[in-house]
This record gives sequence, C-alpha cells and structure tokens, in this order.
Amino acid sequence: MSRHPRYDILFEPVPIGPVVARNRFYQVPHCNGMGYRDATAVAVMRGIKAEGGWSVVCTEQTEIHHSSDINPFIELRIWDDRDIPMLAGMVDRIHEHDALAGIELAYNGLNGPNHYGREVPMAPTAMPVASFSYDPVQAKEMSLQDIRDVRRWHRAAALRARRAGFDLIYVYAGHALGFFHHFLSRRYNHRSDEYGGSLENRARLLKEIITDTKEAVGDTAAVPCRISLDELMGPDGLEKNEVLDVIGMMAELPDLWDVCLAGWENDSQTSRFGPEGAQEPYFATVKNLTTRPVVGVGRYTSPDRMVSLVKSGKLDFIGCARPSIADPYLPKKIEEGRIEDIRECIGCNICVSGDFLMSPMRCTQNPSMSEEWRRGWHPERIRGRGCDEPVLIVGAGPCGLEAAQMLGKRGYNVTVAEAGKEAGGRVTRESRLPGLSAWRRVVDYRMQQIHKLPEVELHFASELTAADVLELDFRRVALATGSRWRRDGVGRHWTSAVPGASETPILTPDDIMAGARPPGSRIAIWDDDHYYMGGVLAELLISEGCEVVFITPAPEVSSWTRHTMEQHLIQKKLIEMGVAIYPNLALSKVAADVLEAKCVFTGQRQVFEVDSTLLVTSRKANDELAAGLHALHDSWADAGLESVTLIGDSVAPATIAHAVFAGRKFAEELDAADVPNDVVAFRREITELVDREGGNYSSPGTP
Ligand code: ADP
Ligand code: SF4
Repeated sequence: MSRHPRYDILFEPVPIGPVVARNRFYQVPHCNGMGYRDATAVAVMRGIKAEGGWSVVCTEQTEIHHSSDINPFIELRIWDDRDIPMLAGMVDRIHEHDALAGIELAYNGLNGPNHYGREVPMAPTAMPVASFSYDPVQAKEMSLQDIRDVRRWHRAAALRARRAGFDLIYVYAGHALGFFHHFLSRRYNHRSDEYGGSLENRARLLKEIITDTKEAVGDTAAVPCRISLDELMGPDGLEKNEVLDVIGMMAELPDLWDVCLAGWENDSQTSRFGPEGAQEPYFATVKNLTTRPVVGVGRYTSPDRMVSLVKSGKLDFIGCARPSIADPYLPKKIEEGRIEDIRECIGCNICVSGDFLMSPMRCTQNPSMSEEWRRGWHPERIRGRGCDEPVLIVGAGPCGLEAAQMLGKRGYNVTVAEAGKEAGGRVTRESRLPGLSAWRRVVDYRMQQIHKLPEVELHFASELTAADVLELDFRRVALATGSRWRRDGVGRHWTSAVPGASETPILTPDDIMAGARPPGSRIAIWDDDHYYMGGVLAELLISEGCEVVFITPAPEVSSWTRHTMEQHLIQKKLIEMGVAIYPNLALSKVAADVLEAKCVFTGQRQVFEVDSTLLVTSRKANDELAAGLHALHDSWADAGLESVTLIGDSVAPATIAHAVFAGRKFAEELDAADVPNDVVAFRREITELVDREGGNYSSPGTP
C-alpha cells in the first residue's frame, strides 16, 4: 500500500541549515530514564525511531560540563572525549536509516543541584536551585569570567558532538531547564550588567552561544534553538510576546526554531488536562518572524491535523516526543497508507514517570519501549510461532488483548473468552471517567489489530469456569482475568481490614464505574491508592451534586501523579470544584453515618458525618479461576491441558502499562526455552572498570 496523496506534503524534504531532513517527521529531544547508564539500550531505541521513519531523531538533554549535572535524573553526558564513543554509537544507529541525528546540549545551571559532582551551581543571579525537590543548595551568581567559561565549554561540547557525528547541535533554552532560559527570564535574572535588565541584554547570552555554536560547527551541522514560548505564569514568568520579541531579534541566527512551553509539565500535559494541539495558540505566529524552519509539538497523532499545520504555515516540522514513543513507526504507517495501524499516544505520561523514577521509560501503548535492546522486542515485529498448538486466553482486558494480538501476529491460533459484552476490561470502564476518554485508544488499537488477524477469535459473554476450561481442550491457557477493588480498605495504611468496614455498606471504584451511586449526598473518599482513581472519582461525584470529603494519609491528593506531572492540576481542579480535602489524615473507623480519622502525626481525632464511604485503597487479583483449575489438576492430563499462566492484574494489580507489558511478555515467552529464574532475564550493560591505578583524572595535586 502507499500513502494517500493528501499526505504527500508530510514527506517533502526540508533543508535545515547545511543538512536536509527527508520528511517533516521530527522526533524532538525527550528524556527516557536510561541516558548514560543504559548506553546501548538508549542508542538502539533511537535507532528504531529512525527505522520507523522519523527524519530527525534527537537525544535527550546532554550535560555539557561536569559543573552542572542534573542528578538524580539520568540523562546523557558529553563532559569530555570519553563520552564520544557512546554518542557515536547512537548516531550510527540513527544514520543507518537515513535520518539526521540531533543532540540537545544542556547546561543546567540553576536546575542542577550538582548532587553528583558537588561543584557550586551557577546562575544569572544567586538564589536557591530550581530543582524538582526543595534541595538545600544555592547557586552562585555567574561572573563575567564564568559566562566566558560556559561559552567555551558549550563550544567544546559542540565540537565533540560534531566528532560524534551529530547533524543537528542544539542550543537549549527550553522548559526552564537550563541557564539560557534563566538568563532570559526576569524572575531568575536580576543582573545589572550587560546580561541583565532589558530584553536585549537578557537575550545576549543566547545570541552569543548560538553564534559561537554556528562558528564552531555550522558549516557541517545545523544549529537549532529550542526555546520556551511561555511559562504560563502571566507577568511573573516569561510571556509569549516577550519570547516572540527574542525570536524576532535573532530570527535568522539559528538554523531552526524548536518551540515549546515551560516548564516541562506545561509542555507535556496529560490528556486529562490538555487536548491534542494545546500549544498551537502559542506557536501559531512564530513562522511570521523567521524564514528558518519551525518545529512545534502538541501530542499530534492525526495525519490530517499534521497536514493542516503545515499547509496553514504554522509549522515546517511536526515535532513529536510522546507520539513517537507510543508508535516509533508512526511516519512509516502514514507513508504506507496504514493510518488505522497507528498506535496513538493516550497522553497518560507513564513515559514521564520513567524519567522521574530513573528507570527505563515504559509506555502504556508501546510495551517494547526501552526493551528493544535488553529484551530484543520490536515495536512492530515479532518472531513467528514455534509450534502449532492453539492458545486460550481468558479475559479481554488490556493484558489479554495485547497477548492475543501479539500471539496472533506470531501466527498462533488464539481464542479469547471474555465474560463481559465488550472488550477492554478496566480500560473500557475507566475511559468513561472524567478526563480519561483518550485511554480508550489502548483498546481501540488492539481491537483494530485483532480484527485483521484471522488467527484470533474473540468470544464475548463467555464467563468460563475451571470445568469449562478443561472441556475446551487447550494445551496452553493464559488467565488475564484482572482484579477488583477491595471493599475492606486494605492498602498501604491499613494492611488488614479497616475497623468497621465489614459491618458498613462500603462503595468501591468498581461500584461507581458500574453505575452505583451513594445514598444521600455526603460522601467520604478515603484514598490510600494515591494514583489517579481517588481524584477522578471525587471529580465525578462532586460534578453529580455530591458533597465530597477527600481524606488521604498523604500530604496531597493523587500523590503518585507527581511522576506524571499532573498532581498540581488535579489538586487545583478538586479545590476549585469544592472538594473538601483532608491530607495527612488516616481513616481509623467507618460506620454507617460517621467516619473517624486521625492526624498521621499527632493522632488527633476528627469525626465526619457522612452518608456513605468510598474506599479507594488497593485491588485484589481475580485468581479464583486459577485456583479452581489447580484444584482440578488431576484432570489436566485427560483434558490435554499442560500449562496455565496467570498474567497481568490477575497476578498482582498494577498500571495499565504493566498489564500491556505482561501481555506482550507472555506472547514473547510462550515457546521460548525455559530460562531458570535465577538467571538475569534481560541484557544489561555493566560499567567497565578502570585499572587499579585508576582513571583519567589528574589534578595539580596528583603526583
Ligand atoms: P488486565 O488489566 O490484567 O488486563 P482487566 O481487569 O482489565 O485486567 O481485564 C480482565 C478481563 O477478564 C475483564 O474484561 C473480565 O470481564 C474478564 N474475566 C474475568 N474473569 C473471567 C472469566 N472467568 N471468564 C472470562 N472472562 C473473565
Ligand atoms: Fe503516550 Fe502514555 Fe505512552 Fe507516554 S506512556 S507515550 S503518554 S501512551
């Protein structure tokens, strides 16, 4: 198949300074929780993006100097020549597929507390570091010599990047994550010399560095500038008009403008709070200021939308981070006329949590993300089947659907039995909750694939018992039967039932999702789950007219969503809707019309008069079918049954990303040789040890 001619415009080559991108699909820099620690894994991941058709593939932010590290976050480093081979390996993998490799050089300045290097952070003005936690570290004000030093370091890093083979060498003034941004912004720059005060002065350093970088590498590499158009703080921060003036001042200086919002949480909003294209009002007029190409982002997955952005003169390149994570093959699928195969990002920011947790990034939609090298998984390809035995999968939630589609792609005949009338399990239920409709894409993509696979049969309204499974004559069975929310309040705070829970009518999230509503109008939500569910249900119930009291032992609502960068938005929304939030309070007793709680610090007691209680604590695996089958183990041989494997939430409930990953893992490992579980299950890279005399460090004091 080939693409529809209306998408031709997306496949036009576009020059960027001295290099040419072969199409308009541009993977903008994005972090991934792997960085320098997982050198080969991150290089292979970037290579697969290039293979999938992105004409520009960029690194994450790459620290240019040891005096500015962003530890504990794990990004890349180009501190000295010893970092070049690792980066060159990534470039080679990108070049293999005819794509351009971009590197985002970064000097973190005020953002880098320097926990690792212990150098004193430097900033335009002396103040506490602006890191993600309240680090007890302050930055010193840069002297003119410090500014000259950083200019020299940036130039040296650019030359090293060129030696590594990069085609685009960035000057990064985006996301408030770096010192060019800090110089631009009045809230960080209180200087009175030529680098402070007027906008022209505040932009001086950015201009100087772009010029330095162009002089150093500009004959062979493009020099893009990534800049934040707005900090969304009104006059307290950088505002659009001011940044547009900066762009106007140096319109033709960089070879490309890569425009975003600051901070990162505004640029990468979840779908719960920001629609596709949320940045459009900010970048819409940038192209009026410059003849240089412009790349912008907006979680774009719709090719028609991409075409209209180019045709209306708003963008030259469609920038993607998350859509390229969810589907590294997005450009290729458009090129091959396979739009329906696009695995659309759902905007959940589970990928972001990888960076915040310093773990290889995971993706709800793309379970192969970060597993390309270490497990050998590919986002599109999977090896053929190892035998002809058909497989029975019980349950069509995210785990069962992923297992079914991947086994079908391997050529296995798969039967899926689902108790309900529709596919998707928890995803279908949860996507009906406020703000979560985009999550439905997890089901839509998999159902779309399954419909194209004659190997996969899906049966609804087919609740199976253990006896049914035996009767069906399958040798191999996977149980993806999911989980249900607990009614007894067991969670993190209460590891056994909450006092009074067994004698009191209690609501659970499953009840609410199934349509049950609290009697009376006053409801208390005890949230000891701490991810999105408690907050979403508070939003739902208050919007339906309930008075909602939200009690949590954490200091804030939906605390884990800090890792998906939406906690502040959830709390704001609930406050604005009128939810009464009681943090640092632990439920101590429930009864029909009254609920008792205690301060987690002092134990001071508080009583709430309520009509009902909704417990959002933890889930219990639906493993009854597995237990039933094990009870009938003696009959397995007669029924031809050999193996029963629990997968996904039915083993231990976790995120949707986890369930999809478990489905893929089952499909990958079905006929793999049995590897004893005391052997490491994936590849990893071990630090090469220096000899006992040690390292390359020399200082004036070293003999
Ligand atoms: P996961 O996240 O692990 O995929 P879900 O709870 O989303 O789990 O999905 C589990 C699915 O399994 C649900 O759609 C549920 O209806 C189905 N299911 C559970 N038990 C049975 C059973 N005995 N027979 C058939 N389907 C079942
Ligand atoms: Fe999109 Fe979620 Fe995947 Fe991130 S984890 S790329 S937000 S689907």
